[in-house]
Amino acid sequence: SQLIKRPMASASGRSSPHFVLIPWPAQGHMLPMSDIGRMLATHGATVTLITSPVNAARLRATVDRLAASGLRIRFVPLRFPAAEAGLPEGCETLDAIPSRDLIVNFFAAFRLLKRPLIDYLRAHSPSPSCFITGAGQAWTDEVAREFNAPRFVFNGYSCLSLLAIENLFRHKTHELVSSLTEPFALPGLPHRIEIARSQLPRHFQNDPRFEKMVKEVRDADLSSDGFVVNSFDELEVGYAESLAKATGKKVWMIGPVALCNQARPDMASRGNTAAVDEEDCLRWLNSQQPRSVIYVSFGSMASFSPPQLMELGAGLLSSNRPFVWVVKVGSSWTEEMEAWVAERIEGNSKCLLIKGWAPQLMMLSNPAIGGFLTHCGWNSTLEGVSAGVPMITWPLFSEQFLNEKLSVEVLGIGVSLGVQKPTEWLKVEEDGVVVGREEVAEAVERLMGGGEGRRRRANVLREKARRAVEEGGSSYLNMETMIQYVAERVC
Ligand code: UDP
Repeated sequence: SQLIKRPMASASGRSSPHFVLIPWPAQGHMLPMSDIGRMLATHGATVTLITSPVNAARLRATVDRLAASGLRIRFVPLRFPAAEAGLPEGCETLDAIPSRDLIVNFFAAFRLLKRPLIDYLRAHSPSPSCFITGAGQAWTDEVAREFNAPRFVFNGYSCLSLLAIENLFRHKTHELVSSLTEPFALPGLPHRIEIARSQLPRHFQNDPRFEKMVKEVRDADLSSDGFVVNSFDELEVGYAESLAKATGKKVWMIGPVALCNQARPDMASRGNTAAVDEEDCLRWLNSQQPRSVIYVSFGSMASFSPPQLMELGAGLLSSNRPFVWVVKVGSSWTEEMEAWVAERIEGNSKCLLIKGWAPQLMMLSNPAIGGFLTHCGWNSTLEGVSAGVPMITWPLFSEQFLNEKLSVEVLGIGVSLGVQKPTEWLKVEEDGVVVGREEVAEAVERLMGGGEGRRRRANVLREKARRAVEEGGSSYLNMETMIQYVAERVC
């Protein structure tokens, strides 16, 4: 990892503060944090992104391109103490853990990084001016204090989710409902959004297995100087101000950060090696009518049971629209499944099946894509917004039900599949059939066959997203203000 030498001042003459980024090791966090690093460096800051050997290998293409860009950004792979924390050797990414119960061991492994990180930062100049750390990294507080630097949290959530979580911690409205499935109105929002307690993130599930971890996450938020949010003011109007008021902390809305990837290599190889040939992909997409294809993907973590996969596939086929279907071929990918797709999907000119990692950014921005069936991960939601693509929403777990509410009820760009029950992460495969083929086909028809208002609103948001990150846009200016804030504290 190479730090490209540049004068220690940006074009504006302001001194160049040094941001140290410590992402949570999951694709949904590593990817936006790498983008944040790149944006900070583009705005004249110096950036160190702490990673591990496995994560660095995944990010190889990005790391190499950034090294060649001349920006002052370095990726530092510190040895990850997996075995010492009771994790299998080499288990450095969240999608690699064999059981959900081992998440707590990830927290333990991170805490063990404190000393090596301090030693590394002491041995390498420049001294850190600011830390941006992933959810639950309370231990980084002590590191930030060592260097007398502020620390901001990057949770990877929308601002609505952060605000809802903050308000629920304060008002405890979720404790007043009589059952886990009874909908109630989220407190402290400018509009009425109803949700059931079971659909909230794990902070509010009262699960004794995760009590310590939830406390650690909350403590890390409370002790921080504020939040860096991958979103933009025009998308989540007024939420940043409400969050700043509720917490008394800084809130920096600097997204959509994925929009910093404009060159084709940046969009095509992001986060992992794609399981398809880029050219084949583009040839297929370019042979389709504009806005006719539905892109189906459930992010980096979820995989379904074979019966659910077949039901989804059958629904997509009966919709009679062309589709791209991204499937994770983990333990649930049986021989039966292989035979099923070979017979119906592979070789069907209306379908493009991607078994493994897809070049999502590149695909979503292709003019052939007209809809996105998504699990409502926040990155995917924002990437859909940035591409001007309306969505079908199928939330699974975490804060994804809140993201669904934002897309469908607040922004009016989504069609809900009406999923009520969350699935346990890593147990999605055990859940059998949650959504039937008819529901899938109907939702595709609603999204692709009509809904001009939805499409128009999605297009308006795409333009607003682009403007937000352009010079003079809201996120651009927020990024400048954040760097300025840090630079003034260093002086
Ligand atoms: N992603 C991708 N290819 C895939 C799956 C995911 O490029 O096959 C990217 C996607 O573009 C997004 C991130 O991985 O940036 C997933 O984050 P998200 O918050 O949507 O979901 P998560 O994986 O955290 O559930």
